[in-house]
Amino acid sequence: MQIGDFKIQEVIFGHFRLDGGCMFGSVPKNLWSKSIPADEENCIHLACRSLLIDAADRRFLVDVGMGEKWNDKQRQIYGITNTTKEQWGFDPASITDVILTHLHFDHAGGITSPSSDGGIALSFPQATIHLQRANWDHALNPTPKDRASYLIDNIKPLAQAKLVLYEGTHEIAPGLRVHRVDGHTKGQQWIEVASSDERLFFATDLIPTAHHVPLAYHMGYDVCAETLLSEKASFLERAHHENAWVCFQHDVKTCVARVLLNERGQYQAHNGREKL
Ligand SMILES: [Zn+2]
Repeated sequence: MQIGDFKIQEVIFGHFRLDGGCMFGSVPKNLWSKSIPADEENCIHLACRSLLIDAADRRFLVDVGMGEKWNDKQRQIYGITNTTKEQWGFDPASITDVILTHLHFDHAGGITSPSSDGGIALSFPQATIHLQRANWDHALNPTPKDRASYLIDNIKPLAQAKLVLYEGTHEIAPGLRVHRVDGHTKGQQWIEVASSDERLFFATDLIPTAHHVPLAYHMGYDVCAETLLSEKASFLERAHHENAWVCFQHDVKTCVARVLLNERGQYQAHNGREKL
């Protein structure tokens, strides 16, 4: 997809699965399972989708997947599979900037990799890493609600990286903006890529799949449902009003869709595409 001077491609870093009930919070299974089936252990299958954004002289990567630092037991529980560097379709050394939406393991796990000396090293040592300060502070001191999603091996090494921390909305390059939201976890940021006639919103965990577009469909993992719902309502209103493409990070099938208000006044995904 081309938006202004930005060339945008999707990168699938791998797949995993999470409990379907946790993924849909208070929505009963007989509703959510109509649109996305659960496996024999009640899990739904999810993608780790990232964006590769080429601008004039910079190459941005938005989120980095779950990475390789998983043992067999964890791989089995979460159904983790990784794609290969060949499948990514880019040279990791060519990345100048990594934008992390937040430091949960399924978004930032790939920021570090096992090193040849048995330790852990930054996967993109040359890249500047962009994050919200509130998420950095929270990841260093998480609360019991989402502590299990912040793994120290994904966080501590960032202190040695070229880390840039933002306080809310920031324009990283002309037309490329990050926006802070706090309902899913403190200091998450979603990404806006805009030109005069087209825009793409990378929703991250504010709306993880196209099945989560209806306002009440949100995750049990969210730290504050009330905050999330108000942030999500504003996001959907903008996406609908501006006819933006919304990119769903965890949807196995639908990469992007427009947002429609149906005759019952509910938001739904519309014109879904499997590729950008
Ligand atoms: Zn998350």
